[in-house]
Amino acid sequence: MREHLDAGLRSFSFEFFPPKTEAGHHTLWEAVRRVEALSPTFVSVTYGAGGSSRDRTIEVTRRIAAETTLRPVAHLTAIGHSVAELRRIIGCYADAGIRDVLALRGDPPGDPGAPWTPHPDGLTYAHELVALVRELGAFTIGVAAFPERHPRSSSWAEDVRHFVAKCRAGADYAITQMFFDPDAYLRLRDRVAAAGCDTPVIPEIMPATDFRQIRRFAELSDARFPDALARNLEAAKDDPAAGHRIGVEHATAMADRLLAEGAPGLHYITLNKSTATLEIHQNLDIARR
Ligand code: FAD
Repeated sequence: MREHLDAGLRSFSFEFFPPKTEAGHHTLWEAVRRVEALSPTFVSVTYGAGGSSRDRTIEVTRRIAAETTLRPVAHLTAIGHSVAELRRIIGCYADAGIRDVLALRGDPPGDPGAPWTPHPDGLTYAHELVALVRELGAFTIGVAAFPERHPRSSSWAEDVRHFVAKCRAGADYAITQMFFDPDAYLRLRDRVAAAGCDTPVIPEIMPATDFRQIRRFAELSDARFPDALARNLEAAKDDPAAGHRIGVEHATAMADRLLAEGAPGLHYITLNKSTATLEIHQNLDIARR
């Protein structure tokens, strides 16, 4: 990945989550096959908050490695795991030929803002997980970045300092949290560069196509949602096709600006339904840029 970005090539990638049901698996695999036809740089699979959803992440990631031509990036979170368990999971990925890990700290299940309690034999921050993965083999490692600052960081200076430490621990690239204002990404990129860090930061693109999603986005991230976009989606709340069009247009315009400003690529959230993200990707005609 880093070689790809260092060579000046843009990365484009798609994110999936592990489904719970048979029908969910069917939808996921349809989306995976549609995305595969575009030969993305990589695809990633989110890591569940606990228990069986974590096993499903490992299963889906291994299946993508075994049964497709795609390069899967395994998300992995430190929360709730001992170091021994993290070593076992990383070993499991290595056995399956997976060499890409997105190393994250994770949030307390249920309430992301709840007090953070480390596992008694575990890790506290993502930079420790980066170091662990680095120690265990020749993995390519990604980390998280926050265009509107991590909610637990008390200042930008602190946020950027910890982000840079995570990169120096061995991260090859970063992917951002979702955001809807391109200037937030550009400001973060400038802050990271001013701190002397040249780790590529790939913006995450999350098309907002339904008014009802906005509250869920607020629960997942602190990203400011543009008033005009919220108003337009509200006006289209009983017309799914119009909502879809509004969301795709906004995300296309934002991604277009980010690429024009030199973003090293785009990471699309698919929610396992590839339609909106594929439309955005086609609108951008990334191969010709
Ligand atoms: P860290 O880098 O550890 O940062 C967390 C906080 O601690 C920040 O405020 C940071 O400034 C601070 N900090 C860091 N180091 C120190 C230090 N040494 N001393 C004091 N403070 C410090 N969650 C999931 O559960 N599953 C997923 O699959 C998943 N995928 C994600 C993908 C992306 C692209 C992103 C952006 C997030 C994802 N998340 C996922 C959410 C993520 O786990 C949470 O946002 C989590 O709160 C932050 O993780 P982090 O890796 O950035 O943590």
